[in-house]
Parts: sequence; structure tokens; C-alpha cells
Amino acid sequence: VRIGIVGLGLIGGSLGLDFRDQGHFVVGVSRQPHTCDRSVSLGVVDEAGVELQRVQDCEVIFLCTPLNALVKTALSLLPSLAEETIVTDVGSAKTTIVEALEPHCPNFVGGHPMAGKAERGIEVAQRGLFANNPYVLTPTAATPPKAIETLRHLIDQLQARYYTCSPEQHDRAVAWISHLPVMVSASLIQACFQETDPTVLNLAQNLASSGFRDTSRVGGGVPELGRLMAEYNSAALLHSLYQYRQVLDGLIQQVEGQQWTALEGVLEHCEAHRPDFL
Ligand code: NAP
Repeated sequence: VRIGIVGLGLIGGSLGLDFRDQGHFVVGVSRQPHTCDRSVSLGVVDEAGVELQRVQDCEVIFLCTPLNALVKTALSLLPSLAEETIVTDVGSAKTTIVEALEPHCPNFVGGHPMAGKAERGIEVAQRGLFANNPYVLTPTAATPPKAIETLRHLIDQLQARYYTCSPEQHDRAVAWISHLPVMVSASLIQACFQETDPTVLNLAQNLASSGFRDTSRVGGGVPELGRLMAEYNSAALLHSLYQYRQVLDGLIQQVEGQQWTALEGVLEHCEAHRPDFL
């Protein structure tokens, strides 16, 4: 298959590496000439350039720019594509993207590979990034089954775990397990700075170890990504944040009321059910 990738960074680059390994011909487009040159020399793509039209003859196009560039980029590209061209994106929020693009592209299918890293850019693109991780497609009633089938086949070649759901279900689900955790983890780091005694704050910073490393990781990640998640999935994220605040208030009440058995009950439930997610 001739595959186009627009936006050569962590996700676009990692897709390119895996698809080339599978024998597909991969054409890349990115904003900066330097990124295009690096993509060719790293073996991420067969050819690359800054002109969007470069991918117009591809059978399948993956849009892999940051969330806030996806719709604009797609709308510039779509008029030059054949009707049968399959277009998908990898953005981490789906409803706004699908609603904006589906009316303009008969073969658009929203998608989201659930794999990532703390770093970004073409230099950190990695073979096998998607293997054993979920890859969700978010078709609607209007999506042609053939487009879904073609993408499913490519997702299988990434050795990812294929899922399908509506864009709205996707956004609610990832709000819980991806976007809420960023906010919770960021508020943890931010809360530590409420310590007013500089000696204690400094001591805390020196004593921080594996527990703090785990719980602060996603909150201390790339700020722009967190902001875009919040901006593009604000309704579902707010719903999760309000629920989270209620749970936190419940825990505060248990500690204030010295309800240690009840608190332990909550923690027992968490211990038993964390594996339901992982
Ligand atoms: P990234 O590493 O920053 O890559 C995005 C690349 O797009 C940049 O390297 C940039 O390259 C290029 N770009 C930026 N604006 C562009 C434009 N207008 N036209 C063409 N290329 C443009 O980011 P990423 O982590 O791969 O994320 C890309 C997408 O994947 C996002 O939509 C995100 O929601 C989604 N996603 C990310 C993760 C994750 O964990 N990182 C996981 C799943 C999905 P140059 O400007 O250098 O050319």
C-alpha cells in the first residue's frame, strides 16, 4: 500500500518505521524541511517534503500533526484527494475532529493509537511503539466498511490491539484513563509547592523517590500536549474532574472523621480493581 503520513514526529515517525518494515511505500509530509530530511535519513519514510500535495496519490493517509493542526491540515489536503482515498488521524480526542472532517471526506475514519513517550519529535520515533498497545478506530454510521477493513489490516500489521467505538465513547473513556490522570498528576506537583517552609519543601524534593516518580510522571510531561487534550476534550474531561473532586472530598471526610476502616475499604477496592485497567 502507498501510505502518506502528514506530521513527522513521534507518532507519525513510528508509524512510518513499522509500515516500511512491512514493505509499504511511505511518503511523508512535515512542516520543516529539516524534519523531512531527517525522516529520510532515519529510514522513517521513503520520501518526504513540505508540500501537502506529495501525499495526494497515496491510498491511505495518516494525519499525525498536533491536535490543533489536524483539521486545518486535512481541509487543505482533502480537495486534492481522490474520492476513494482513505484518511485517518491519530489525535487523542475524537469527537471534534470527526465532526469537522467527516462531512468533507467520505472515507475519513478517526483513530487513536494508545501509545506514547515523554519526548516528542522525529528523533524519538521508535519501531514497535504500537505493538501490544490498543489502537482505537472511531467510525460512525456513515463510515464505509471497506475503509475500516483496510485500516484494521494495517493496525494488525502494527501488532496493536484493535478496538472500535463511537467518537463520544472514546472521548469519555480516554478522559478517565489519560486526560484526567494528567490533571491529577499536575495538581499533585502543584500542591507540593503549597508547602510554605522552604526547608521542608527542599527536604521533600530530596526525599522524593519511586512513588513520586510514578505519580508525577504524566503531570510533568509536555505542557502543550496536556493543554491540547484539555482543549479538545473539555466536556468529557470536566465530567471526570468533577467526579474526581467528589471522590477526593470523600477521602478528606474519611481522614477528618478518622474513619480508618472506611478508608481502608476504599483502598482495598482500589487494590482489587486496579488490574481491571492494566
Ligand atoms: P510530535 O512528536 O510533536 O509530532 C508532530 C509533528 O508534526 C512534529 O514533529 C512537527 O514536525 C509536525 N507538524 C507540526 N505542525 C504541522 C503542520 N501544520 N503540518 C505538518 N506537520 C506538522 O507529536 P506526537 O506526539 O507525534 O503527536 C502527534 C499526534 O499524535 C497528536 O495529534 C497527538 O494527539 C497524537 N498522539 C500522541 C500521543 C503521544 O503520547 N505523544 C499518543 C497518541 C496520539 P515539524 O514541525 O518539525 O515538521
